[in-house]
Amino acid sequence: ASKARSTKVAAGFSLGLEGAEMGKVVTRFPPEPSGYLHIGHAKAAMLNQYFAKMYEGKLIIRFDDTNPSKETTEFEDTILEDLHLLDVKADVITHTSDYFEQLHQYAIKAIKDGKAYADDTLQEQMRKERWDGIASRHREDSVEDNLKHFDEMFKGSEEGVRWCLRAKLSVDDPNKALRDPVIYRCNLLPHHRTGDKWKVYPTYDFACPIVDSIEGVTHALRTNEYRDRNPQYWWMTDAVGLRKVRIWDFSRLNFIYTLLSKRKLHQFVNSGAVRGWDDPRFPTVRGIRRRGMTVDALRQFMLLQGPSQAIVSLEWDSIWALNKKVIDPIAPRHWAITNADKVPVTISGGPSGAETKTLPKHKKNPDVGEKKTVYSSNIWVDQEDAKSFDDQEEVTLMDWGNAFVRSKTVDESGKVTAISMDLHLDGDFKKTKKKITWLAQEGDLIPVTLLDYDYLITKKKLEEDDDVKDFATPVTEFKEDALADANVQDLKKGDYMQFERKGYYIYDGEGQYIKIPDGRAAGIASKADEE
Ligand code: ATP
Ligand code: MG
Ligand code: MG
Repeated sequence: ASKARSTKVAAGFSLGLEGAEMGKVVTRFPPEPSGYLHIGHAKAAMLNQYFAKMYEGKLIIRFDDTNPSKETTEFEDTILEDLHLLDVKADVITHTSDYFEQLHQYAIKAIKDGKAYADDTLQEQMRKERWDGIASRHREDSVEDNLKHFDEMFKGSEEGVRWCLRAKLSVDDPNKALRDPVIYRCNLLPHHRTGDKWKVYPTYDFACPIVDSIEGVTHALRTNEYRDRNPQYWWMTDAVGLRKVRIWDFSRLNFIYTLLSKRKLHQFVNSGAVRGWDDPRFPTVRGIRRRGMTVDALRQFMLLQGPSQAIVSLEWDSIWALNKKVIDPIAPRHWAITNADKVPVTISGGPSGAETKTLPKHKKNPDVGEKKTVYSSNIWVDQEDAKSFDDQEEVTLMDWGNAFVRSKTVDESGKVTAISMDLHLDGDFKKTKKKITWLAQEGDLIPVTLLDYDYLITKKKLEEDDDVKDFATPVTEFKEDALADANVQDLKKGDYMQFERKGYYIYDGEGQYIKIPDGRAAGIASKADEE
């Protein structure tokens, strides 16, 4: 096999794996089936897929199912659906639980080799001892005693559940990850795949390196907050005589005003602050997809982030800006007039009845299709536009031509209630300052709801001991009723589109359109950003 070269990504840096051989690379994405995937998981999944493809290797999706207290089959199913949404396809799907028998045998071997011991030190005290570098009173127990206690654990007996198994690694290494980590613990709850067969479960620290090695993983991608744990990872395989796996670490993805911990996301769902895991305010794969994020933009963004080691909270703007570039060339363009305060305009020189013309849905991309635009002498315009018109100003009615504003009726509150215009089709649209969207009153106007959202929390970065409740944004959903041209009836749920001069939207079904942030820190997002 030839040594593979690294690939240049958009930003110009090289993204490659050390020691990678063409056709031999095996990567893995190991989600715990305890919640829905979020944008951070998307980074891990996409990078793993990227390297597997780049080296014509293999991608393993491995459910890391070692804690029956948190995991369910339903979460496995949704994770697979989400990976499908992300276009991440596994060559193999496995489970850590497939290896419970082998892991158990390796644990026994470790005990016999004097590399693991059973401990019943209470959790609090164990934490303190590890912190202070003090040996457990069981550290020098005999192999026989350790095997006996581990067997009680295996049986899940009353005696056994008090114990755990620890790696005999170090008492006081400056790297605290090396201070005799716990590698097995009891759990009497049924496991969603193995039922009540097991009462002991390996910890991630033990299971992950061993299963990586057994499954032939060549490069384990890990977030760099685990870098301190790399020596521990290698110790485990070494201790049981398995092949060492390479580690490639990358920075954990964080965004401002965003919580990316499954536990906190569970809280939001349970408290009703969002309507579910696919809520457009949520940083879940489902949530951001529903908000209009394309897989293309996500992938571009993740590869740009690829080798960065900086652990920072990113702004959302740059990823939405990438997304806008993906959507803009393919989004059909429609018009909507905000229903409240819409202003009737009478046009003289316009058609006597309703006339219909066929126009492209996208001026620069004929593939997007055609739409029918209705012309008449009675149109609606947005209040905001109407207010901005100067007396006798020449404006451009988009897809039609120029017109002079001849009169404007304004009520006591300053609201425009009627306008009359003279059509001036010989006028030069390049010379007008205002290009206005409008809708013919005689057209089939479709009532639509425009939705926009704010961040769920008011603080850029929550600290560990901040209570989420203290930083919940009071109102996070904004609704506006509008009328749209009849062509929006061609849209299917999930389609991207543009209401010209209002922004990009994704059609959410049932007349609801969700605003896609455009990455210019515009609208609601910018309010929060300025603080
Ligand atoms: P959470 O804290 O949300 O529960 P987790 O890391 O416990 O996340 P897992 O299901 O164990 O969730 O994660 C699967 C993989 O996704 C891991 O390899 C982990 O490194 C990676 N991952 C999780 N969160 C992020 C993130 N914010 N950025 C990058 N990778 C992440
Ligand atoms: Mg985890
Ligand atoms: Mg976590």
